[in-house]
Amino acid sequence: MNSSAAHSLASTANSNNEKVTSSHPTSCQNFENYSDPSRPAWIEVDFAALAHNLSEIRKRVAPAKVMAVVKANAYGHGLVPVARFYEQSAVDMLGVALLEEALFLRENGIACPILVFGGLLESQIPHFLLHQIDITVSSLSKLEQVDRWALHLGCKARIHIKLDTGMGRIGTRANTAQPMIEAALLSKNCQLIGIFSHFACADDPHDKMTALQLERFEEGIGYFEKLNAPIPMRHLANSGAILHHPKSFFDMVRPGILLYGIQPDSKSHVELELKRSLTLKAKTVFQKGMLKGQTVSYGATWKASKNTWISTLPIGYGDGFMRGLSGKAEVLYDGKKFPVVGKICMDQMMIESPEMSVPNDAEMTLIGRSGEEMITVEHLAEQAQTIPYEILTNLNSRLPRYYL
Ligand SMILES: *Cc1c(COP(=O)(O)O)cnc(C)c1O
Repeated sequence: MNSSAAHSLASTANSNNEKVTSSHPTSCQNFENYSDPSRPAWIEVDFAALAHNLSEIRKRVAPAKVMAVVKANAYGHGLVPVARFYEQSAVDMLGVALLEEALFLRENGIACPILVFGGLLESQIPHFLLHQIDITVSSLSKLEQVDRWALHLGCKARIHIKLDTGMGRIGTRANTAQPMIEAALLSKNCQLIGIFSHFACADDPHDKMTALQLERFEEGIGYFEKLNAPIPMRHLANSGAILHHPKSFFDMVRPGILLYGIQPDSKSHVELELKRSLTLKAKTVFQKGMLKGQTVSYGATWKASKNTWISTLPIGYGDGFMRGLSGKAEVLYDGKKFPVVGKICMDQMMIESPEMSVPNDAEMTLIGRSGEEMITVEHLAEQAQTIPYEILTNLNSRLPRYYL
């Protein structure tokens, strides 16, 4: 631990809410600098894997550009370091869901174009304009609001028109989009950067919905030709479409989960050689012998069927390792699998190691590889009856992230 970390630990507020700036560190006379306060549960992010995946995606979609999607804390990888990495890798744009995410990136010095996908309130518009963040315009009335604010503040809004081609979320239906498109083209206060839509079923290569959505998107683009107007940047493809639907690449693609080396759905065939970028690890902090018949964790749902060994890991559903994985997930140590037993607690969970006592400080892999064995996000998603996206985005800010 460095001394500033020691100091920040010592200067947290006490119960009277007064700052404790006491001499705790200095009164501890033999304090050694090499001790480490960081918790023994963490995420490792492999930048080389991210770089590799970006390059594979670029090769596949060229000459289309790439918007790297970093919403939801970069799919659990850590928003700012990952966004900075992509900016340095010269991606053409970053995509986020929320204004807050975009503002946080600007505060941290990210200067490249950022599009916020989500719907917006009028009160947020000035902040988009002040920080030159690209706005998703999903209706004529939103366009008019943006136009008024840009005029009022004396700056130009960067906008992307959103068509609803079947997702039913935000956006104007393609067949009624002409008035919005005309107004965007006529606006002196808006710079029309892009037009986009989002697929509902692109991760299933056989789903017929995708062709229909593609057709509707092209119908929307058709208004520009009809009006003899320049076509802004067209972008439609998410990860599933990048894998399965080359006709949807247009001018730019918007990969999210694929950047992180994970396929969007078990129905996807992976045609790209991707590398997994996230590893989740924890060290055992306690172990004990358990006699036949003794129970583990809340509800006493797990009972030792024979004398065995139980180790405790300092990670739980409070970190996003879902409680629904209780009794299902396994962890890896030294190339071997060990089952999670009993209910996963908020901050701790227990594993059984029948033939051996796992040593204290043993580094366990919860997501990632150990020897010949691997635990994948996809496998955990199946066990928790959810999708890989939710496993990743649940991993929250309590877990420190280290970048390799
Ligand atoms: C989340 C999102 C993406 C990326 O989706 P993936 O399936 O992770 O590739 C692309 N576009 C929009 C509008 C999104 O909301």
